Amino acid sequence: MTLYDVAIVGAGPAGLTAGIYTGRSLLKTVIIEKGPAGGLMALTDKLDNWPGLPGVEGGELSEIMLKQAESFGCELKIGDVAEINKDADGFFTVALSHDEGIRAKAVIYASGSTPRKIGVKGEMEFIGRGVSYCAVCDAAFYRNLRVAVVGGGDSAIKEALYLTKFAKEVVIIHRRQGFRAEKITMEEAHKNEKISFMTDAIVEEIAGTQFVEKLQIKNVKTNEVTEHPFDGAFIFVGYDPQVEPIKHFVTLTEQNFIVADSHMKTNIEGLFAAGDIVDKLIRQVATAVGDGATAGTATEHYIAALGQS
Ligand SMILES: Cc1cc2nc3c(=O)[nH]c(=O)nc-3n(C[C@H](O)[C@H](O)[C@H](O)COP(=O)(O)OP(=O)(O)OC[C@H]3O[C@@H](n4cnc5c(N)ncnc54)[C@H](O)[C@@H]3O)c2cc1C
Repeated sequence: MTLYDVAIVGAGPAGLTAGIYTGRSLLKTVIIEKGPAGGLMALTDKLDNWPGLPGVEGGELSEIMLKQAESFGCELKIGDVAEINKDADGFFTVALSHDEGIRAKAVIYASGSTPRKIGVKGEMEFIGRGVSYCAVCDAAFYRNLRVAVVGGGDSAIKEALYLTKFAKEVVIIHRRQGFRAEKITMEEAHKNEKISFMTDAIVEEIAGTQFVEKLQIKNVKTNEVTEHPFDGAFIFVGYDPQVEPIKHFVTLTEQNFIVADSHMKTNIEGLFAAGDIVDKLIRQVATAVGDGATAGTATEHYIAALGQS
């Protein structure tokens, strides 16, 4: 197995930034990624709050960050990290699903999170056939069609706004009256003529034949269930942290986020965490990048100290 100074799990903004810092410090760095580089950022249409470049496309920023990390010597390895363990010699083994894996003196864990399912009948059956968790990826398939967006947070409303570029009608279905999205995003949604709202409502079932054709929607106040025609359902009800590979030895919160200190250190010496996976106030590209820079620098200090011991 190849021994690296640093193994970074995840090539989202947190992992790529960590790589830029460890690469610049001349540490032999591998970034392991199971999907497209850029993580959730790559699937984001436009970032209005990325300082200095308002409206930059997530995909474009991802490509630039990857090139920057590679220019400092980082190696991108495609693979799904299955389990991480600390060995008796103090180094880590990073096991991959379909590969022998690698060893590393330190690990930066930046795996982000995955879209949460709503768990109703028809959801799994129609994934890719009307059920989607990514408007930027799939919106173009819904040109002139009628779609539902399920959720009330910032991601849900932003994705609904993006969908209006293609769909003829977007109905936001939310289980409460109040929305958690930022005020400015909500104002934009209220002004958009293609968007309407169904509040106090939950999806009970997604149905169709080949593709999604209708949703059963329950009013949580009256318990009345009604059927509504839709060509698609975009679901944005939160994200689950991807902690499987480390959950056996790293301290997590009740919601499965990693507990890390201000230097991004976890309870395991030599294992750092960065980005959305960490327990913190906001999960954004700017904070992921900040975590990545801190984790990269803290890792450099950790490895330098190993050399002196
Ligand atoms: C719809 C939407 C809109 C958003 N809009 C904005 C916005 O406007 N502004 C903003 O600042 N933020 C926005 N965000 C949030 C932002 O995208 C995230 O905060 C940011 O991408 C988190 O970065 P990360 O590197 O921590 O994780 P991620 O971007 O999630 O990257 C983690 C990476 O790790 C990989 N990975 C996970 N597990 C493994 C494994 N076992 N093996 C190998 N690889 C693995 C994943 O494939 C992924 O590529 C938005 C998010 C969404 C979903």
